[in-house]
This record gives sequence, structure tokens and C-alpha cells, in this order.
Amino acid sequence: MPKTLFKIDLTKSMSKQEIPGHNRWHPDIPAVISVKPGDVFRIECKDWTDGQIKNDDNPTDIKDVKLSVVHVLSGPIHVEGVEPGDILVVDLLDIGTLPGDEWGFTGIFDRENGGGFLTDHYPKPAKAIWDLQGIFASSRHIPGVKFAGIPHPGLIGCAPSQDLLNTWNRREKALVDKGVGPAWKPAIPPLAALPNPENAILGRVKPADFERIAAEGARTVPPREHGGNCDIKNLSKGSRIFFPVYVSGGKLSMGDIHFSQGDGEISFCGAIEMSGFMDLHVDVIKGGMAKYAMVNPIFKPGPVEPRYSEFLVFEGISVDEFTGEQYYLDAHVSYRRACLNAIAFLKKFGFTGEQAYMLLSCAPIEGRLSGVVDIPNACCTLALPTAIFDKNIVPV
Ligand code: ZN
Repeated sequence: MPKTLFKIDLTKSMSKQEIPGHNRWHPDIPAVISVKPGDVFRIECKDWTDGQIKNDDNPTDIKDVKLSVVHVLSGPIHVEGVEPGDILVVDLLDIGTLPGDEWGFTGIFDRENGGGFLTDHYPKPAKAIWDLQGIFASSRHIPGVKFAGIPHPGLIGCAPSQDLLNTWNRREKALVDKGVGPAWKPAIPPLAALPNPENAILGRVKPADFERIAAEGARTVPPREHGGNCDIKNLSKGSRIFFPVYVSGGKLSMGDIHFSQGDGEISFCGAIEMSGFMDLHVDVIKGGMAKYAMVNPIFKPGPVEPRYSEFLVFEGISVDEFTGEQYYLDAHVSYRRACLNAIAFLKKFGFTGEQAYMLLSCAPIEGRLSGVVDIPNACCTLALPTAIFDKNIVPV
């Protein structure tokens, strides 16, 4: 077993761990671990909410979740000899649960506290607890389904440079200041999550620097040039990720481990969220960013993914479901319609809308942007693996 360099005590918050983690992006959060290219090591992670969600039947914790706490990350890791302009190569050798903590959760956030992709349809909080047995997940809150997981880090990336951080903060604030999103955007959630010092955890930052870094540290919510919270289910075991490096040592951090997730992670708390470990191997490609014209990370998926071969595919088009308004090649509206079509279908098989919404969020769903040129409708599709159900769901 590789040496564990970042250890988690599940009874303690991320700020109280033996090595404290962090929940904001900032180049001045000091590295807490140092490794060399070629090293193999284990990193343990808490779930993304820092343990706020409990293994019980009451969704009050989802309703009241403190979103200023997310995402708690393990790191930063300094990789010797890695400099800005290099590519940090990270192999995800293995990903799994922590002993004694083999469960996960999927939630629907309250419309007033987080919301989600379908928040105008499902505004109330809900929770599904998943029992994880080896590679399989099943839930007492969504009976009739069982599937193999595709474990992956929802969030992994290197620290931004001060320049890149300033760019993030500037452009995201400009969006919020503009105050208007596209016409289809629900009133809630807000347009972007701007820096917020409340509940900031900053690892081993010195007290004198804390206030400044908490005030300008970027929230971990969106994916950005460094990767970050990409929520890509196929970043699973055996994947090799190529990360752009912006600061000396790279300062790699990670967390938000998912046991499984559907493309889109639509309910926002949408994967099977869990604590866990990741075994990593790191290497460097000197000068790789210019060599490969890299702006965002590139990755090569691993060879270990669940094999589902039969799907029922739901189509969606870019027409608003409330107003009937036609949108121009809008993939967001189109994917929402595909999801709503799948939920309406699943309700015919005894699932509640909330159960179906959570299932599409966390089961191995394949979401595709199938067509984006056929004016005026984008066509998005959602492919539901039929074998995860304990009964036939194909129309006869
Ligand atoms: Zn997550």
C-alpha cells in the first residue's frame, strides 16, 4: 500500500486535521506535502461538505447545509522541480472508500440554499443515502435500482497564479455585476460564487495573511482553466490527467470524491458523495503547456469502468418547458428537457420525481450534446442504462 501522506480523521473538521486542508483557491496557501516526480502515494479526503450530511433518513442537513464550507480539499501538494508552464502528470492509480465509512449521499438542495439544474421543478430538499458494497451501490431511499460505481474525484487541480486568480475574480464579478443571465436562467441560484471569507479554511496560512487570502481566494465551485471542480465521471481509476501548472511546485489539491455520477451531476449535490482515498503517481512534462497548446487539462480515461451496454435514450430540444419559447441551439435548455423527459418516464415506473431526479444525477448516465448545428434546436440526449433497474423499463 502506498504511504498515506494526507490522513483524515472523520470525527474532525478539515481545519482540525493533523494536516489541515483548504476550501479556497489561492497561490499563497502553503503546500503541506512535498513529493518528487515518480512518487506513488495515498491521499485521503473528506466528503465535499466536511461531514455535514449524516447517514440517516432526515434531509434537514441537506436543507441547512452551509455551502460556504465547500469544497474541503486535501493538499496542496508540492511536486519538486515543477514550474509554471510545465504539465503536471497525475495518474489516478486507485480510488476507494475509507474503512468503516462505506456509504455516500445524493441530495437535492433547497431552492433557497443552493438549488440545482431542475430547481424550478424540484424546489424542496431531498436526500438519498447509498450503501456501498464493494463496487455496487444501492439505496433504501430509491428502491429498485442497483449499479456499479465509477469512482472519481469531482475536484482536482493545481493552484492558480496570482494573475490567473485575479482574472477569475474579475470576470466572475463582472458577470454578477451585469446581473442578468440568459433568459432561461432561474432566479436562483446566483450567477456565480464570488469570494466569501465566511468559513474559509486555508490550511497553514499564517494568521497575518489569513484575512487577505480569505477575502480574495476563489471559491471552488466552478471548473476553471486549472481543472478544479469539473465533475467528470470518466476521470476514474486508471486515468492519466495532464494539468497546466501556474505556480512553483504545482500545488495540487483534490477532494469531492464521488462513488458514482451521471453526466451533468444535475442536482448539484448530485453524485454519490463520499469520503475516500486516492492513490496517485505524479510526473512532469517540462515546458508542456506551450508544447501542447494547453489551456485546460487534458486526460486519458482509465480502462476500468462499469460495462453497461444497453441504454434507453431520451432526447431533448431547446424549447422552454414552461413558456414554449424557442431557444437558439441552446444545449442547456435541451439537456434540461432530456432530463425532464426521462423523469416523466421513470415516474410511470413508481419512482417519485425526486427519486428519479437524484437517480439521473448519480447513476452512470451518459449525457451527450448530440447536435448543435440544426437550427434552431440543439439536441441533447440522456442515455439511461437499462440494467440498473430490477425490472424492464423498455416500452413494449
Ligand atoms: Zn461532489
